[in-house]
Amino acid sequence: MRHLPYFCRGEVVKGFGRGSKELGIPTANFSEQVVESFPPDISTGIYYGWASVGNGDVHKMVLSIGWNPFYRNTKKSVETHIIHTFKEDFYGEILSIVIVGYIRPEKNFDSLEALISAIQEDIEEAKRQLDLPEHLKLKEDNFFNLPEGKIGNNR
Ligand code: ADP
Ligand code: MG
Repeated sequence: MRHLPYFCRGEVVKGFGRGSKELGIPTANFSEQVVESFPPDISTGIYYGWASVGNGDVHKMVLSIGWNPFYRNTKKSVETHIIHTFKEDFYGEILSIVIVGYIRPEKNFDSLEALISAIQEDIEEAKRQLDLPEHLKLKEDNFFNLPEGKIGNNR
């Protein structure tokens, strides 16, 4: 897959309220500006990789690059579901990610149940893939060692 691994850092903004959190799979959205900085020919679909909020721990993640309905599908959206339970929301914080591999293209689902089970399979696939030594080493990448005082918001 072209462009991978792909390193990206940016602020977490409010999404368009598709109710991801209600499904138990909140997705941290990047701003339009960050999305515009992505390679224009990067494939839409579901990816896996590593993510860290502020200067916090690095966790496994699944990421979707999709067409943004808010802009009538003329712009992309990039949304990260971090495979970790956070005590609080982290809007406004700096999210650092490395996109490691591709899982599947975007799909339409007949039911909410089908969508949720597909995402759960994506999460299991991400966990398996990221345990491989070649992928684990990106977790330790220097990219995730943010210098003091450069962790964005209010710190
Ligand atoms: P929105 O439409 O604003 O993106 P979501 O329902 O997708 O709303 O929830 C996303 C927000 O949930 C994130 O911006 C973040 O602040 C919070 N959040 C809490 N836990 C997680 C997690 N494990 N992964 C991603 N976001 C999380
Ligand atoms: Mg979201």
